Amino acid sequence: MSVQEVISPPAPGAAPTRATHRECRLLSIVIPMLNEEKGFDGLIAKLQPSLDALGVPWEVVFVDDGSTDGTIFRLRDVCTRDRRFRAISLSRNFGKEIATAAGLHQVRGDAAVIMDADLQHPPELVAQFLRHWREGYDVVYGQRIDRAADTMAHRLSAGMFYKIFKALSGTTLPPNAGDFRLLDRKAVNALNRMGERVRFNKGLFAWMGFKSLGIPFNVPPRFDGGGSRWKPGKLFRFAIDGLVSFTTIPLRVWSYLGLVISALAIGYALMFLVKTLLFGSDVPGFPTLVISVMFFSGVQLISLGVIGEYLGRVYEEVKGRPLYIVAEEMGVAPEAGDMDDRRS
Ligand code: UDP
Ligand code: MG
Repeated sequence: MSVQEVISPPAPGAAPTRATHRECRLLSIVIPMLNEEKGFDGLIAKLQPSLDALGVPWEVVFVDDGSTDGTIFRLRDVCTRDRRFRAISLSRNFGKEIATAAGLHQVRGDAAVIMDADLQHPPELVAQFLRHWREGYDVVYGQRIDRAADTMAHRLSAGMFYKIFKALSGTTLPPNAGDFRLLDRKAVNALNRMGERVRFNKGLFAWMGFKSLGIPFNVPPRFDGGGSRWKPGKLFRFAIDGLVSFTTIPLRVWSYLGLVISALAIGYALMFLVKTLLFGSDVPGFPTLVISVMFFSGVQLISLGVIGEYLGRVYEEVKGRPLYIVAEEMGVAPEAGDMDDRRS
């Protein structure tokens, strides 16, 4: 079954100026999963009818990101029951960003939607995504209206991160946009070509460009009532990864600081010389000495640490290891010829 629609002209203010005839022969959904056994039935019960209602052929690609609960059994089960569900299981936990990339490598659709397993990304929204894709947008993303589901600390630190990221990298991340989005085949191919190991999807999406549209939506609490899989420490590492992969300013700022400090030191030395010549020498300032030694050793250690952050990542990339390792594939794998067509 294929659906071809002529779309009426978009509302005033909408970007595309001409109606397009985009045909969706297959819509793919990518869902990364870490220990989602509890909410699994609820997810399928809600997802399947809303995908059926779209009136286009669809496939769901689950990525089990090294779950330690019964997620994999549920995946095996659903993949044998219905051929539209496929899954890969990674050999360990690689993190959501890499799990998503693994899913995108598998999809065969003309467009792919990335969504969370916990129903915090409402499947009903996919119909809207698809409509805007047909209007000609290449990327349609969900924008969270309120972040009430997050803790205060999470919201504050996220707000601060967006500001710092923009100031340092020059790349503007659309506010409150996450991974929940539809990507045209072109965008999927572009992402699939980005082989970097330290992945920061939000930044990659923004860097990639394409005609994009944000759709506001409310974020419900996690379906299973549990907490986020992100622990504060992991989020902090993730924020550093994001910054380091999109800007080298922290690396360069030390040379400017060094210049300023050297200039100050020369000025201070000159001042000291003049003072000694005119008024003679008094007891040299011991506190000044200790404070400056402490301060400058601190600065040097910080700058070394920053260099280390980058060097470590260069090392990660240079090793050239695969992005992830698949331990098991469930469901019918795409045919080789088909994949080649779509991925070129
Ligand atoms: N997830 C994953 N690997 C991880 C962490 C999370 O695949 O290491 C999945 C998780 O199962 C869920 C999605 O990523 O489908 C979002 O996770 P979560 O709901 O914990 O994050 P939040 O909603 O707080 O962004
Ligand atoms: Mg969630």
